[in-house]
Amino acid sequence: MTFGQQLIDWRRELHQNPELSGEEVATTARIRHWLESAGIRLLPYSLATGVVAEIGQGEKVIALRADIDALPIQETSGVAFSSHNEGVMHACGHDVHSSVILGAALLLKARESQLAGRVRLLFQPAEENFTGAKALIKAGALENVTAIFGMHNEPGLPVGTFATRGGAFYANVDRFVLRVQGKGAHAARPHQGNDAIVLASQLVIALQTIASRNIDTLDSVVVSVTRIQGGNTWNVLPEHVELEGTVRTHNADVQRHVEKRISEIAAGLASAFGAHIEVEWFNGPITLLNDEQWAAFAMQVAQDFGYQTQTSELHMGGEDFAVYLQNIPGAFVSIGSASAYGLHHSAFNPDEALIEDAARYFATLAEQALLVN
Ligand SMILES: [Zn+2]
Ligand SMILES: [Zn+2]
Repeated sequence: MTFGQQLIDWRRELHQNPELSGEEVATTARIRHWLESAGIRLLPYSLATGVVAEIGQGEKVIALRADIDALPIQETSGVAFSSHNEGVMHACGHDVHSSVILGAALLLKARESQLAGRVRLLFQPAEENFTGAKALIKAGALENVTAIFGMHNEPGLPVGTFATRGGAFYANVDRFVLRVQGKGAHAARPHQGNDAIVLASQLVIALQTIASRNIDTLDSVVVSVTRIQGGNTWNVLPEHVELEGTVRTHNADVQRHVEKRISEIAAGLASAFGAHIEVEWFNGPITLLNDEQWAAFAMQVAQDFGYQTQTSELHMGGEDFAVYLQNIPGAFVSIGSASAYGLHHSAFNPDEALIEDAARYFATLAEQALLVN
């Protein structure tokens, strides 16, 4: 079997057997088996799921990371190797990322004696719920690592295309819940109550002025209300309405300013309506900050490798790789996967043609990064 076909077979086997974040038991067993069969040493970190392996000798360590978890989505892609697990699907392409880094591992193993140090391979669980990177770091997976690299497939780019950027890349992700507390009343006698629905409606509109009127137009920001719930029938004005939403930013000052404005707007409207609004805030993944030099290095290696390279746009989604970059330098990159349906879509279907090249690219990247002083 050719090298490329082996990687596609592994990808399909992972694709058929997807597991949710933190439950990647069979996936972990498969990856361990494939690495061990290739004579690659596994590091004895204590992990519930996920695998850390290493190739080479010496002081210097470069890390490559793949994520391995899937999503609670019922697959509709129609591919012959569709998910066997009801309601679970590799709809973010982490099966592809895993086979790419497995491929890089095989290539690096073949040139192990020539490596100027060690390459550590992180097969990370639980990316989708943003807990996996933290777990691997806690287990010690970044010990002695000089720089770390990882990828996401990019459905909007053609195969053979590579993109990254220095500095902020993926967004800081926050979640908020707003609980409007009014006073219930008969729908025909609204003056006897304090209508939480009218107040919540004003709140949704007022929140839209944060992005348009409070934040510098040159800064990136998203404020979205994604859930609104209140009332349960047609002739009663409800007492409570709950709203939930998300804020995406790339800069900590902007993020703090948005959080402050949401609280101020909620307090101001509550006061104007004689009601109460409780604001609850949940900090999610932090901004992914690529190291300028390592991002430029990854881009140069991609260009020399033959990829069509371009500078990435800012990404409004979150990515758990950000947590590694909070601890050590490195770069996260995008590789074109040309899927008609996007990430997290039930019909997502990345082009497998990207896998072999990306494996060769990451092996080259790690090998060359070991030579950087
Ligand atoms: Zn995802
Ligand atoms: Zn993903």
